Amino acid sequence: MSTSARTEEDARLREAMSLLSATLESTADGILVVSAEGRISSVNNQFLSMWGIPRELVDTGDDESVMGSVLGQLTDPEQFLAKVTALYADPDAESHDVLHFRDGRTFERYSRPQKVEDRVVGRVWSFRDVTAARRAQDQINQAMADLAQQASQLKTLAFQDPLTGLSNRQLFNDRLAHALAGPCGTAVDVLLLDLDDFKEVNDIHGHHAGDQMLIEVGRRLRACVRPNDVVARLGGDEFVVLLVGSLDADAAAARVVESLKLPVWIDGTMLRPSLSLGLASISEDAVDASELLRRADIAMYAAKSAGKNRYLRFRPEMMTALLERTDLEAGLRTAVDSGEIAVHYQPIVSARLGTVVKVEALARWERDGALVPPHQFIPTAERSGLIVEIGTEVLLRGCTELEPWLSADSSRSLAVNVSGVQLQQGNFPELLFATAGSCGVDPHQLVVEVTESVFFDDDCQVQRQLVQLRSAGVRVALDDFGTGYSSLGRLQDLPVDTLKIDQSFVGLIHGGTEPLPILNCMIDMAHGLGLTVTAEGVETREQAEYLMRRGCDSLQGFLFSRPQPAPSLPAALSASARTITALRHDTAAQTQSVL
Ligand code: C2E
Ligand code: CA
Ligand code: CA
Repeated sequence: MSTSARTEEDARLREAMSLLSATLESTADGILVVSAEGRISSVNNQFLSMWGIPRELVDTGDDESVMGSVLGQLTDPEQFLAKVTALYADPDAESHDVLHFRDGRTFERYSRPQKVEDRVVGRVWSFRDVTAARRAQDQINQAMADLAQQASQLKTLAFQDPLTGLSNRQLFNDRLAHALAGPCGTAVDVLLLDLDDFKEVNDIHGHHAGDQMLIEVGRRLRACVRPNDVVARLGGDEFVVLLVGSLDADAAAARVVESLKLPVWIDGTMLRPSLSLGLASISEDAVDASELLRRADIAMYAAKSAGKNRYLRFRPEMMTALLERTDLEAGLRTAVDSGEIAVHYQPIVSARLGTVVKVEALARWERDGALVPPHQFIPTAERSGLIVEIGTEVLLRGCTELEPWLSADSSRSLAVNVSGVQLQQGNFPELLFATAGSCGVDPHQLVVEVTESVFFDDDCQVQRQLVQLRSAGVRVALDDFGTGYSSLGRLQDLPVDTLKIDQSFVGLIHGGTEPLPILNCMIDMAHGLGLTVTAEGVETREQAEYLMRRGCDSLQGFLFSRPQPAPSLPAALSASARTITALRHDTAAQTQSVL
């Protein structure tokens, strides 16, 4: 080669070298070139600054120190070395991997052979700092994961009842539709249930207790069925269970009713909830969701009417019963308008005086020559509001028919039952005073019997009316005491004069010698609060004697007389007086003989 040609060649080489070095230095990657013998042959400045290695260290040729500095920064130096060793064993190989630093940085590492023509003369390593990109990717991943979790939470919430954590109505409807669209022949059963008298739990013990009760009921329902069965709260105290492919829905329904037999403890108070359940199953003539639910609802209604705390399977006759109820309401309206509501009277005797001191007026409906019992028409009358007119009629008839008996002795009185619906009208005292006045009956000779549930409504309107009645001399008796969710503890706050112990407690007295602590406690507590006590449903001598011994003030029941229409009342009064006189005589004789 001529001198000028060599000079030209050198210049081209220098230009190529400067271009290469400029390129190397302008790249954001750190580059390290290692010879075939494993010695560092060149590095760019970016490599040095990325790894924090002083240029002097490289220039001294102390490759071991450089390697030591590199390894010291990594979280997994062994893996780094293993990779290097593997690549040197295979000089033609290319690789790409990721390095993690102790200080949290992340580098991508590329490695490829350095070749002159086809000969491998070394290896080029390049490193790229991808920490920022990695972090951004991690953040994106995290955000995506959070979003996915939130979406799944929202989805759960949309189908969940927030109080009990059970499914909600929408999910139940979806599942029911899905079940009905499933293979033909699969059993589909709907168990619709409603807590009995739940309103009283809320009214008497407060909404917190009500909520706790619903949560506990939800828990028990869940435990009665298989994990895949849907248990939903439809709202309020109404729940529904969907069984798909169940072999014995009746057994499941029975289990559900049974599950509430164990009392529920809420804030130290023992409550005994119960429920009424209607069961309907898929069949040839009930294949769609709305029909199944309607049938379950009718069956549930029938379970309530049959006395609550039970389950009933839908039967077509129940439809008839439903129609009969509608018919009953229409009939009752006509009865009220045409004066078919009559009143029967039941004597109440004084244990101390041995005479009849009071008479309770009880509504009777004479329908087509037969008597419809009050428990059949009073609930209908309350639902429809007709009870207001019935109550007024009973009071008017009672005052009219008993006026002669009352006026003969001012210590006698007439008791009437007053429904909460009547007290919600707000003008009950005025109505009572006007009616009594029109018949010439003194308010002192009237007793209104109310059940405890009337006290737990809303404002103090009911209390106010009862206070107004009492200040005019009317006495207030608390009826059916001991049933429902009544509590002895609340007695002292109520404006009442008399406690009527429910007949279910009196029914506990058989021989008269058994210990009955609850009954005794009720009598003592009422007396302690200055109330008089009347026992209802006294049917046997043993019961009367027991109650008299326990200091019960008055007794009422078939033992003395059944409720009688006005014309038969004089005979009933005499018979009752005779019975109590004989009882007192016998009790006195027994006491004498004991002494
Ligand atoms: P209540 O106020 O507890 O009335 C007592 C019920 O017990 C009456 O039932 C009476 O016949 C019955 N009874 C009395 N002695 C005995 C006995 O020794 N053994 C048994 N097994 N039962 C006895 P009745 O007349 O069927 O009334 C049922 C319920 O209907 C009443 O219970 C009351 O809650 C309601 N009721 C009746 N008349 C009226 C009314 O005019 N207005 C309102 N709001 N409710 C009424
Ligand atoms: Ca009563
Ligand atoms: Ca009663």
